[in-house]
This record gives sequence, structure tokens and C-alpha cells, in this order.
Amino acid sequence: MDHRGGDWTVTTTAGTDRSDDVHALAEDLARLERATNTDPVGCLAQGAELLARADALGDVHARMQALYFTGFAHHLLSQDPQALASMEEARALAELLEDDHWFARVLGGLGAVHSGFGDQVTAIELLERSLEMRRRLGDTYGIAAALNNLGVTFEEMGLFPERAHELLTEAYSLFEQMGEEQGCCASLTHLAALSTTRAENLCATDEEAASDAAEVAFRRAEQAVEHARALPDNHRLLGETLITLARALLAAKRVDEAGRALDEAEGLLTQGETTHFRLRLTATRGRWHRHRGDLTSAIREIERGLRDSSARARAYARATLLDELVRIHEERGAYKDALAAHRELLLATLEQRDDAAERRARVLNARLDVERAQVAAEAERLRSERLELANRELAHAATHDALTGLVNRRGFDAALAGRTTDPDAPATCVLADLDNFKAVNDRFSHAVGDEVLRQVARLVAGAVRGTDLVARIGGEEIAILLDTSESGRDVAAVCERVRTSIATHAWDEVAPGARVTISIGAVTRRPGEDPSALLARADALLYEAKSAGRDTVRIG
Ligand code: GH3
Ligand code: MG
Ligand code: MG
Repeated sequence: MDHRGGDWTVTTTAGTDRSDDVHALAEDLARLERATNTDPVGCLAQGAELLARADALGDVHARMQALYFTGFAHHLLSQDPQALASMEEARALAELLEDDHWFARVLGGLGAVHSGFGDQVTAIELLERSLEMRRRLGDTYGIAAALNNLGVTFEEMGLFPERAHELLTEAYSLFEQMGEEQGCCASLTHLAALSTTRAENLCATDEEAASDAAEVAFRRAEQAVEHARALPDNHRLLGETLITLARALLAAKRVDEAGRALDEAEGLLTQGETTHFRLRLTATRGRWHRHRGDLTSAIREIERGLRDSSARARAYARATLLDELVRIHEERGAYKDALAAHRELLLATLEQRDDAAERRARVLNARLDVERAQVAAEAERLRSERLELANRELAHAATHDALTGLVNRRGFDAALAGRTTDPDAPATCVLADLDNFKAVNDRFSHAVGDEVLRQVARLVAGAVRGTDLVARIGGEEIAILLDTSESGRDVAAVCERVRTSIATHAWDEVAPGARVTISIGAVTRRPGEDPSALLARADALLYEAKSAGRDTVRIG
């Protein structure tokens, strides 16, 4: 295999600016995309470098693209496990980035990879999803590519030729409208392959129909070759297209022309070799020998191909060679050899099915691992959320009163201490105590007393600002730390509002005949006064209010 590095000219990144680097990386990725088809070997080397650069920049989108392109190059070179690994990671990243266009594209790429394994069931499923997404997104090129790949899968599967024909024809017409030479070439090549198979199947029963089909195959293949020649440097594509032309020519019994097409394809092998290219060339060369009646050379060719390919070829590709070998032995009348080859063909097909099943299991396992990790992460998130909630509840309980929901003594002391660390900070403190509350309990019940306390808490909170701190600091004692961020607040008016809100409340609704009032003492901090001195003064004023007959406010 020719391991030339390709004619890469990498954009150098002179600037240190990240956006320059990101831009240069995007340009190199566009170049990588173009090279995927023409130079898969070079693409792998370059792809690894671009991956490293994407990681260094933390550019996840670029990483996804580099993985997709290298995955595709691996696929073309038949390095299937690496193709699958790269494509699966690209798919996970497209999902993570919620990039629908790329997700649809990667699904198509994955479809192609599974098709390469010979796992057509998975391939069709993925390609159909990709097609559906791309139709929804209105991505014409993507639609054409997905139609083409689906058609190719059906064609290579050898089942549903009408469906394959329909898909490839639609793909071809879209590619033609867009002037996409490579796409046109791909669809036409597989349309030609379809007609060739039809001609081969008909030749034993209906010679005229077989020759018509061969003629169609030949015309399409010739057109495909024209498109391939119009593409610069795409040796692999031209080579593979020439092989298809040779097969069509053989079906049309134009053996000499087929030989020339194969010679030209062989000349391109060193520049665009992939396992698929080489195997198809060998199988077709064998077929060509068979058509020339040189069965010995035909067998030699195929057996060499089988020896060559055993280590690296997809079971599916080996099956192509074995299929040809069966035909050659049959033609020789060597039925025992034909049977032996047939047995091997069957084994290769079974192996292919096992491979496909194993791969599907591996993909499922990988996805399960991801899901399991996601579930574990989610459980951990919920657990820490619950823990945080419990902590918050605990912290709330430590500073709040369960009966009224107001801040408790501890919360109030902490707030007051916080407010008075600066000796000159202003503070206004209101102390209030229910009048003759013991009598409420005695006359009605403790439960009524509790309900009164709850309603008092709501009334006081409603009579002050949301930014004032209302606390229950004792059984039926309430303290308010007023918000003094605005100067000139009328403290007397606030206290009066609190007092009347209690005195005028409809207490009859709580207990018929109940009457509740409150006495209030309020003080404004003197410079440097500590919290206990401040509270003591407030308490003294409260005591004055009680002595003055209760339901009274005293301001100091
Ligand atoms: P004064 O006007 O002098 O304040 O008279 P008072 O009866 O309110 O006297 P004092 O403040 O000393 O009595 C407080 C009473 O409040 C004692 C207790 O029965 C009642 N009390 C304290 N905590 C609670 C409570 O959580 N629920 C109920 N229902 N009653 C409480
Ligand atoms: Mg009281
Ligand atoms: Mg009291």
C-alpha cells in the first residue's frame, strides 16, 4: 500500500490569538474533508494532528469533525474497528453539542461503516434515520448523500433491486441539479452495478433482456467514468468506476474492452489503494479470465486474492471473491471444487453475520455504559441536591421559629450583632409584648393562644417593610429590627401601625369575645451602644408602656 503523506499544506498559526487558531483549524478541517475520498491514508495522519489541535483549543466541534473524517478514512481503508470507534465518538459529540446537521451526517457515516461490515440491517436503519433528519432539515446535499448510501447498501445486499434503483435514481438527479460530480459518479456507478447484476441474472433465461440490461449498465458506467475523470486526483474513485465499467462490459460480452478498463484501473491502484478497490479488481480480473475461457488464470487470480485478503478483508469482501470462485469451478465442471468453494462462501457469510452481531453488541454495550454513567451522575446530582436542601432546612430551623415562621431569638441576636459591629452604624429596635396573654390562654385554650400568636406574627410582618427583620424572641414577645438604610424613617408611625393592626384585628373570628393588644417600646441606637444595652433600653420602654395601661407605644 502506498503510504505517501499526501500533498498537505497546513495553515500555520503564527498568531497567539485563540480565534486565529480556531479559524486556521476550521480551514484545515475543510481540507481534511476534501482529502477523505482522494487520500484516506494522508487523511489519517492529518486527522490525528487536527484532533490534537482541537483538544489543545478545547474546540469540541472541531474534535467531532476530525473524528468523523478520520472515521470515514478508516472505513474506506477497511480499518473497521477504528472507523466504528471514531464515528461513535463523533456521534456522541454531535449529540452533546445538539448539532442536528452534524448528527444526521454522522448517522449517515455510521451507516456506511456498518454497511462496510456487511451489517446491512443496522446500516439501513441508520441511513434511514439520517435521511429522515436531513429531509426535515432541508439539507439537499445530505438528502442526496443519504439516498445514495441507502441505494448502495440495497444494491450491495443484492435484495430489493427496485428499491435500490429508485433511491439511486433520486440521488443522482439531486446530485446532478447541484453539479456534484463525485455524487453523480457514485450514484451512476451503483446504478450500473444494479443493471450488470440484472444482466447476469437474466443471461441464462432471457438473452435479449440480459443484453438490454447490459447495454444500460454499460452506458451508465461510461457516464460514471466521465464524471470520475472530471474530478482531479480521485484515483480511487476513477479506479473503482472503471472496475464497474469492466463488469458491465463483461455482461455485454465485450471482453477486450473490459480488459482495457481493468488495465487502466490496475494502473491507478498504487495511487488510490484501498482493500475494497484491490478486492474488486481481483474479483473482476478473475471474472475477465473466466469470460476469456482461461479458467486456470481465473482460479489463480482469485486464490491469490483470497490469500492476500484473509487477514484484513471484511468477510463480506471475501464472499465476493468466493462467489466468483464458485462460478469458475462450475464452469470448469469441477463440481467438487465448486462445492468446497461454496462451503467456504457459506462460512464467510456466517462469519460476516457473527461479526455484525458482535459489533452490534459492542456498540450497544458502549451505549449502555454511557447511559449507566449518565444515570449515576444524575443520581449523584439528586443526592447532593437533596443534601443541600436538607442542610438549608437545618440552617433555617436553627434560626427560625416553627410556630410562626418568624426569625427566632438566635437569628435575631445574630442579625443585631451583625448590624452593630460598626460602632457608628444606625439601628432601630422595637420590642413588643402581648398584653395579658396569659389570660387568653386561660380563658380560651393554649391552642387558641397559638393561633393568636400565628396571626400576630402575620399582622406585625404585614405592618412593616419586607426589609425589616421581625423575630419572635420569647413566648409572646416580638422584636423588630428596622431597616434604617434610608434616614428619617418615622419610627413612631411604624410602631403605631403595628399596635393598631393588632388592636383592630377581628379576633372574634379566632375566638368569640377575644381581645388582643400589644405594648411596644422602641429605641434608636446611640453611637457605640452595644446590642444588650440597646435591648435593655427597649425593654425599659416596653415596661413603661405596660405600666401606662398597655396597648401603648413608647419611643426612646
Ligand atoms: P403582660 O401584659 O404583663 O405581658 O401579661 P402576660 O399575661 O402576657 O404576662 P407574661 O408576658 O408574663 O406571660 C406570658 C404568657 O404567654 C405565659 C404563657 O402562658 C404564654 N405563652 C408563652 N409562650 C406561649 C406559646 O407558645 N403558646 C401559647 N399559647 N402561650 C404562650
Ligand atoms: Mg405579655
Ligand atoms: Mg411576656
